[in-house]
Amino acid sequence: MKKPSIPNLSEKIAIPLAAVNSPQRIAILLAIGKGEACVCHLETALGWRQAYISQHLMALRKADILQDRREGRYVYYRLKNASYLDLITASATLSGLSAETISAVINTQVYPSCECPHCVPAVIPVSSLTVKPSS
Ligand SMILES: [Zn+2]
Repeated sequence: MKKPSIPNLSEKIAIPLAAVNSPQRIAILLAIGKGEACVCHLETALGWRQAYISQHLMALRKADILQDRREGRYVYYRLKNASYLDLITASATLSGLSAETISAVINTQVYPSCECPHCVPAVIPVSSLTVKPSS
């Protein structure tokens, strides 16, 4: 097998770096973290308008970084590959932040002011709590 040239390798290596080259994209990836998040959760987490977030979500999906899943009236976004969080953490430490600072914000948080199903767990219907007699 022919050894790949450095310019060829570099072109490939630059793809994921270029995909997360804006503070907005990084913020969204941190807010989603290892879990999944809907647009309304990101609105609460980042304090940005929905249209603005949707625009960046679309770009991240197009770059094959995010995948989405519909459940009822909510669309949840998650990272296709958690290695992007490692990439962001590495960049954070290069800019003088500690890895702990980043891991503290990566973890999916629950916001009291957010009304998404992740932050407000669904009310369990009383009927489902009825103990069924064991036979
Ligand atoms: Zn939420």
